[in-house]
Order: sequence, then structure tokens, then C-alpha cells
Amino acid sequence: METAVQFYDYTRPELVRLLGDWGQPRHVGAQAFRWLYQKRAKSFGEMTDLSKELRQELEGKASLSPLKLHSRQASRDGTVKYLWQLPADVKGQAALVESVLIPMARDEEGEPSRHTACLSTQAGCRMKCSFCATGIPKFQRNLTTAEIVAQILGMEQDSGTSFNNVVVMGMGEPMDNYGNTEKAMRILHDPEGLNLGRRRVTVSTSGLLEHIERFIKDDWPVSLAVSLHSADPEIRSRLMPINRSNPLDKLRKLMRKYTFVRRLPVTLEYILLKDVNDRPEDAEKLAAYCKDLLCKVNLIRYNPVPTLPFDSPGEEAVLAFRDLLKAKGMRVFLRERKGVDIAAACGQLGFENTSKPNYEF
Ligand code: SAH
Ligand code: SF4
Repeated sequence: METAVQFYDYTRPELVRLLGDWGQPRHVGAQAFRWLYQKRAKSFGEMTDLSKELRQELEGKASLSPLKLHSRQASRDGTVKYLWQLPADVKGQAALVESVLIPMARDEEGEPSRHTACLSTQAGCRMKCSFCATGIPKFQRNLTTAEIVAQILGMEQDSGTSFNNVVVMGMGEPMDNYGNTEKAMRILHDPEGLNLGRRRVTVSTSGLLEHIERFIKDDWPVSLAVSLHSADPEIRSRLMPINRSNPLDKLRKLMRKYTFVRRLPVTLEYILLKDVNDRPEDAEKLAAYCKDLLCKVNLIRYNPVPTLPFDSPGEEAVLAFRDLLKAKGMRVFLRERKGVDIAAACGQLGFENTSKPNYEF
């Protein structure tokens, strides 16, 4: 059983406190934090401005990355999917989780960009959206803060590149693992941590109202994306069971609150599903829903998942949907498809078994 204290679990103030409890002055905790994230130290031995005694003590009772690289797959377009072996949890349950390196010459706004890291927050997902691969196998567990943070560091180490964008759009619902994900986001944001600005990190949620309310109040240092997929209550409930208890009108109110408090647009993600939510009337409903909401819409071509009864619309329908929204003056982007050949694209993560899902659309 893992008993060592896991350093990537700690935000900077927490690490200062922890080392303080171990008899160290304040600056030592801050120094150790910088070693972790600014110098990307891979061992305590490298932390040469800590005393030799302390380094030895840390080697005995603390540890760094909890992730073991299980396998890696590279796509023709440069996307790399990483599969990590997580340590067993207290119940002895081990799990595999994925993250993705997405190379990008330009971001959605046309700005030059380096690599984007797509991170997971849970092994599995309890939301069970009917189109998504992650929700099919049984939910395993929440990731720890360290397991979330270590995904970026592990990909950097393996690929020799660094990330200037992070999207929390891998496996799992980040708001359903609220505390651990929040802490990971604070470590990413910390100027002495990975120093990623609010606009550089996007957390995507399926729209859990209570959690979004808390997210606004706690002021997570990230941008918000909400998976909408339909502005029609009936269709959305069929696609996303959580819509029944987290209805669209309340969701909109909360998104308005976010944009007002943060003075930032909210990103709406909208997967296009053939004959389900891709018709002109669906675009009209979406436009009406977005009226008076400071938002941009990311249209996503559906990435097919074996055994699920959905298709991607043809290119003509995709462009027509986009153009209808554009004509209404909306900010709309069509997300590029990445990593489809290695099942690393949105919603294809975590699909290891080919069993039938236990719900019908
Ligand atoms: N659970 C969170 C974040 C992870 S999912 C959420 O749902 O927002 C990240 C994005 O991928 C979401 O917008 C999700 O709806 C989308 N997605 C899921 N399955 C997909 C698929 N098969 N094809 C394309 N996008 C998909
Ligand atoms: Fe979970 Fe997001 Fe997939 Fe829905 S789309 S099942 S919330 S990971």
C-alpha cells in the first residue's frame, strides 16, 4: 500500500504548511514547490538548494509522480494518446486513465499556439451521456490532485515539449470530482507552479448546477466550458440524463452569472449528431438560447463510438449548421478533428470493452 506523502497533491500554501509541520522554515516549502513545477524535478535528489538531510528525509517519506506510463499511441496528425496506470486506491482498486497531447499550429481564434494537454479527472464517468464512450464501462474512481497534475508533467517528460493550453475534457466529469480538480487547477495556475493563465485552462462540465454555482463562488482560476449539445429540453434529456435534474433554463441563468462575475464568455460545446440535433430548427433553438448570453459556440463533429447508435452529419450539414449560427451574429468555431485514427478524439476515451451500453437512445 502507498503510504508516502504525494507532493503533487499539495498546492503551494499546503506544501509550505506541510514542510512547516516537518520543522522547516516557510521558504523551504516554496522552494520545493518551484522545484516541482518550474524546474520539473523528477527526484528529491535534484533539489540541490534543500539541505542534504531534508532531501534524504523526503526520499524516505514522500513521493513524486503517481502515474506509470502504460502505453502511448501516436496519430498520423501528431496527436498522442497516453494511457496511465494509476496506483491502487485504498480499496486496492487499480485503474487506467488517458490523457491526450494535441498539437496545434493555431488556436481557435487564429493565434499561434503550442501544444494542448487534454486531461482526465475520473476513471470512468457517472453522468452516462448516451453518446459518450467514457460513461460506458463501470465508474471506477476519482483521480487524486496528484494524478491530475502528473498527467501534464508525464506527457511533457515523454514528449520533450511543454504545454501552453490545457483542456479538462478527457475522461470524467470534473465537477463530480470537485475538490481534487480544484486543487489541480490552482497548481496549474500558480505563477510559481505551471503558471498557466485563466484563459489558458478550460474546464468542461456537463452542467451540474450546484457545482457550477460553487465554482463561481470559489473562483477557480480557469475558463468555463459547458457541454450543451441541445437547447431543446427533451432532446438534451435524452442525450444527457443529468438534464432532468439540471434544467436548461437554470443552467443559462448560472452561465449568465459566470459571464457577469468573470467578464469572460462561456464556451458552449455542441456535438453534431446526425438527425438528432443537427437540423436548422436545432440551430434556431440554440441561437434563441444564446440570446443575451456572452458565449462562443464550439461545434464538434461527432466521433463515432462502436455500439452507440449515433452518426456524424455529412460535411454539408455541418457547415450549414455553422453558417446559420454565424448569420445570427454568433461566435462559432468548428473544432478540428484530431486523433480519430487512434480513438483519442473527444468522447472516444476510455472505451476498452465492446460491451453494449445498458441504455437505449
Ligand atoms: N465530462 C465533461 C468533460 C469531458 S467530455 C463534459 O461532458 O463536458 C469533453 C467533451 O467531449 C464534451 O463536450 C463531450 O460532450 C464531448 N464528447 C463526448 N463524447 C463525444 C463523441 N463521441 N464525439 C465528440 N465529442 C464527444
Ligand atoms: Fe461524462 Fe462528459 Fe462523457 Fe457525459 S460527455 S459521460 S459528462 S465524460
